[in-house]
Amino acid sequence: MQGKICLEEHLSTAEYDQIWNSGGEEARNGAEYMAEVRRRLPDAALRLADMDRFGIETMILSLTSPGVQGITDTRRAIAFARHTNELITDKFVRPYRGRFYAFANVALQEPRAAADELERAVRDLGMKGALVNGFSNIGDADTAQYLDEPAVWEFWERVAQLDVPVYLHPREPLPGQRRIYEGYPALVGSAWGFGHETGTHAVRLMLSGLFDRYPNLRIILGHMGEGLPFLLPRLQSRLYMQRRGIGLGNAKKTVGEYFTRNFYVTTSGHFHTQALLNAIAELGVEHVMFSTDYPYEHAETGARWFDEALISDNDRLRIGRENARQMFHLT
Ligand code: ZN
Repeated sequence: MQGKICLEEHLSTAEYDQIWNSGGEEARNGAEYMAEVRRRLPDAALRLADMDRFGIETMILSLTSPGVQGITDTRRAIAFARHTNELITDKFVRPYRGRFYAFANVALQEPRAAADELERAVRDLGMKGALVNGFSNIGDADTAQYLDEPAVWEFWERVAQLDVPVYLHPREPLPGQRRIYEGYPALVGSAWGFGHETGTHAVRLMLSGLFDRYPNLRIILGHMGEGLPFLLPRLQSRLYMQRRGIGLGNAKKTVGEYFTRNFYVTTSGHFHTQALLNAIAELGVEHVMFSTDYPYEHAETGARWFDEALISDNDRLRIGRENARQMFHLT
């Protein structure tokens, strides 16, 4: 399929590499793999060549995880977000009209500053919403502020006013909460821990009542919905039957209702047709969008799988292009 649009596609900047080059990723993912990822992250020409080869017209780009959420100094995080949004616009978006757009970085360590920066990024820079890498560290690496917590609702109010989507992207779980991965360090990141962390974060949002207060919020999850299309029916059954509503937080509706109304999923890094069919069945085809997770995945792998997946041509057009075109007002 030609003309595909994808939206979980990552980049990096020299400044970000200095802040976040811990070496831990090499230990976990392999030096050879990470060398190729690091070669591609800051590079526009390499990704454009892949896009042309594999029928991808447009990428909506985002800074690689954990991004601004991992900067423990709040003032530094605010300045970094603003500066990086300018940099991404100047280096990637403006010179390649129509090929690249970007999600804004927002420093949720200070929700009002995040709201102000989102508004500026959307209005002045033409950014397409925000991508948030899970919880925000405040003060140190073992502190978390999750997106459903009361302090953050000021940010969501502005998101609702601006009516732009927020991509909830994974990051690794808190260092102090990794006992279950001890002895299996390969599981902490994208192989397993990402999905566990992010799926749970999404459920927190559903149970918080956030979507009752701001019913037009749209949350995008990658990796075919971080397991939720498969897991949510059981969650709903146990919450509402066994517990008879106890511990449901402030939510007025069922998790299934929020999931089908307020959530969208992408195929990033999860190129498996049975899972795609299940996501379509649970959410409806209008809520599923193609993405690759470049450069952590090969654009070729994602595009070839998607182009040949056993779905109707109508569904392929919606998932591969039209749903994203409408959501992000692309012409
Ligand atoms: Zn990703």
